[in-house]
Amino acid sequence: EAFQVLGLSDAVLAAIRETGYEKPTQIQERAIPVVLEGKDVVGASQTGTGKTAAFALPTLTRLGAPGGFRCLVLEPTRELAAQVVEQFEKYGKHTGLRVLLVHGGVGYEKQRRGLQEGVDVVVATPGRLLDFMQDGTANLNNLEVLILDEVDRMLDMGFLPDVRRIVERTPKSRQTLFFSATMPPQIQTLAEFALKDPVSIEI
Ligand code: AMP
Repeated sequence: EAFQVLGLSDAVLAAIRETGYEKPTQIQERAIPVVLEGKDVVGASQTGTGKTAAFALPTLTRLGAPGGFRCLVLEPTRELAAQVVEQFEKYGKHTGLRVLLVHGGVGYEKQRRGLQEGVDVVVATPGRLLDFMQDGTANLNNLEVLILDEVDRMLDMGFLPDVRRIVERTPKSRQTLFFSATMPPQIQTLAEFALKDPVSIEI
């Protein structure tokens, strides 16, 4: 199977060609068509499987062209968030879509300016994003795609209440993609709250 048959945009396919990836990984083959259809996904997949591209490639295709803050990715750590930003930038380089990293442990001003200047995709750790939601800098009213990544690690770090608070402030019409290597009861509860008729993908 090739990337060309999955329904990705020409801009995204051009970026994939430049990365040198020859064919989609298993999770990419299964998740990309489902995400492109606009369906919710619950995925059990480890890092190293190509999971990030599995959600980034179809999301960039759906966003298309710049149009404001429409996609939020939540990550448990700033290292993971930084890696995901890098992949969105690489796969989105021909789309014009703007990607911003938002995390704690550094000053607010640079990130605040980034949000104010306009973004399409925000990749964030939960605490700092909540700060920007509370002071009115980040507005999730137009969100179309919410991606909750590494949810089991967010549980370990005590972030689930923050994650839930963020989910509560996103539009009901959103598409939600949910990835967790394990599904203990608290994560099952969050998944039931956040997802609508999800397609389950286990790799
Ligand atoms: P991830 O599972 O998202 O952490 O990705 C693991 C690594 O696989 C990343 O460094 C990607 O650049 C790489 N990768 C993702 N998709 C493919 C693919 N289809 N072919 C080859 N490498 C890939």
